[in-house]
Amino acid sequence: MAFNTTGEELKEQVEEIIKCPICLENFCDPRILPCSHTFCLECIKKLAFSNHGQFQCPLRDGDIMSTENIASLPSNLVVREMVDLVSKNAGKQRLTKNRITAMYTIESIIIRELRTN
Ligand SMILES: [Zn+2]
Ligand SMILES: [Zn+2]
Repeated sequence: MAFNTTGEELKEQVEEIIKCPICLENFCDPRILPCSHTFCLECIKKLAFSNHGQFQCPLRDGDIMSTENIASLPSNLVVREMVDLVSKNAGKQRLTKNRITAMYTIESIIIRELRTN
């Protein structure tokens, strides 16, 4: 691990880590397989569905699992937190918009209160 990694490089690395190799999107409900690879729960389910309810890691390094086993796969909490963190940063614009909407809502409540009094 290099210690002179810039913030931008680190961000790119994190974005790579939190990307699901199946759907190529940020992980949604990431689950760890027994072979220690991580995929979205939905992606695992979809692959299982197209394979008669049986799932094997796309990298072919794990055992074949049945649909029941998929549901009990443990969440990858570290990946989930990273997705949260990155999407929170990416959604700053949206957050601001929400805040403005909230302000308008409060304002309209105050106006209504003033009118009724
Ligand atoms: Zn996926
Ligand atoms: Zn694997």
